Amino acid sequence: MKTYNALRTIELIRCASKAAGAHRAAQQAFRQAHDEHSTTQTQLTHWRDHINATGGNDRAPPTHSALLAAEHEHQEAEHKVRKAEARLQRTSAMLRPHRPVLNRYSNERRRRRATTLLLDRLADHPVDLIRAADLVTILTSAGKDSIVAMHRTVAAAEAAGCLHKVRVVHCDTGAEWPGVRELARRQAERYGIPFLVVADEGGLLGMVENRRLWPDAQRRLCTSKLKRDPTGPAITKWVAELGLARQAVVLNVMGVRGAESPSRALKTRLALDTRKTSANRLVLTWNCIHELSEQEVWREIASNGLEYHPIYDTGLPRLSCVYCVLAGTDWLILATRVCFALELPLPEIYAALERRIGHSFKQDVSLNAIIAAARMLDALDGTVTWRRGDALRRHLGPAAAEQYLAALTH
Ligand code: SF4
Repeated sequence: MKTYNALRTIELIRCASKAAGAHRAAQQAFRQAHDEHSTTQTQLTHWRDHINATGGNDRAPPTHSALLAAEHEHQEAEHKVRKAEARLQRTSAMLRPHRPVLNRYSNERRRRRATTLLLDRLADHPVDLIRAADLVTILTSAGKDSIVAMHRTVAAAEAAGCLHKVRVVHCDTGAEWPGVRELARRQAERYGIPFLVVADEGGLLGMVENRRLWPDAQRRLCTSKLKRDPTGPAITKWVAELGLARQAVVLNVMGVRGAESPSRALKTRLALDTRKTSANRLVLTWNCIHELSEQEVWREIASNGLEYHPIYDTGLPRLSCVYCVLAGTDWLILATRVCFALELPLPEIYAALERRIGHSFKQDVSLNAIIAAARMLDALDGTVTWRRGDALRRHLGPAAAEQYLAALTH
């Protein structure tokens, strides 16, 4: 199947599913309104029968008010039935043009399976995919996975002759290591791609101060509020600038790898972003390095001379917020020691916030305890030190590191 036809089919299945879902909801609302109507009808009949049985004489206040209440409820139920009927008619009309697709993929499971198969095939042909896309956005944290994802995307875009479609977005959480934003900019500039920074007012610390709670794995508001949501308006703006008279196809690239966590392992290389997709844009999330191991990522960085952030040289595994709510205790202690070595005031700022809101940074450990542990380790072992290239020395050996550093300085 041609790329364009596959994308069209994915969109048709999406619309058919949406229409079928709306129709199902309308049918349910109609049934509920009908049940309510029958109940109120029974009540009304009961009170009328009662009054008739007493020869119309039982007009005492309790009977009379019960009758009035039943009449009122009955009128409201009738109104609900009329509304539900209108909704049902509307959704039936919505459903009609999608009948061929719905007949072919008769239930939601089949529709989902067909979409997954089509997306999987499309992911095998990145150059065709980029050619078919109208806009390619790369969401970068400036971390190691993001730069490899960016490098691969640019290579595919160049092969497709479509580098002009690519844009880079960096979400600044206001709680990152120094130099992250500048590095993200340099990484985009290397390929000559437009670069945009989006930042939520107040950042991570502002959000915590307002909510008086730290996010955690279950309520990971920081990712949605600081990273996912702010990219929506940027995509909307770029799609509008395209001025297309049809639905735009947007490819949103992320540096997500399956080996990072069990939940990431469940993600697919290419997925339909139902949240960002609308009538005027079909948004696909492309996890173009999903299958890579950490070692392979470092190998790509070394062999392509990609500039990585020095924080990896300290032994920290991820370039995230300095204090990431998902990080393990060892990682948080090392981050604190690195802050001490760099003379960053962040440990005290975070600890003061923790005291102000009265909520522990992590359920089982406070920042105060983390800072105390970091101080103790510094007292025992001395301040942490590192050299440029240590991340590569650890992952690929000294020769690869020296080669990389020599290439960077030329
Ligand atoms: S890096 Fe960690 S703390 Fe920062 S936004 Fe992501 S999940 Fe939240």
